[in-house]
Amino acid sequence: MSTSCVFCRIISGEIPSPRILETESAIVIRDIQPQAPTHLLVIPKKHCASLDELFTVSSGAEEAVRSAGELLSIAHRAAQLQGLLPGGFRTVINTGEQGGQTVFHLHVHVLGGRSLAGGFA
Ligand code: 5GP
Ligand code: ZN
Repeated sequence: MSTSCVFCRIISGEIPSPRILETESAIVIRDIQPQAPTHLLVIPKKHCASLDELFTVSSGAEEAVRSAGELLSIAHRAAQLQGLLPGGFRTVINTGEQGGQTVFHLHVHVLGGRSLAGGFA
């Protein structure tokens, strides 16, 4: 938990944000600035700055792979719950400033509800 981290403050309930889905290890909320009709964020409850930190600083490669797999599984379940299947959806993980990351608490974007063909924006 980092008191300066907006996602930690959402996870603790200090900043109210309705959960689309919640598991023991993660929450799913709607992005405040949606880039698609459905734009979700899958956020692990344990603070970790980025995918880079997960695989370099975390408690071992096996644990990092397990955490990453769990996040994708929750992203898939959230997409299903939101009716994005069988149509399809996009998952995005921005890593570091050049990767476009703006909130330094690992998260997976889930975008859908319109055709996303033809680009990554
Ligand atoms: P990044 O650019 O780090 O991959 O994505 C961060 C995302 O978090 C952005 O899409 C941004 O709109 C979203 N975001 C930032 N602050 C908040 C907030 O307080 N609540 C919610 N729901 N989303 C946020
Ligand atoms: Zn955090």
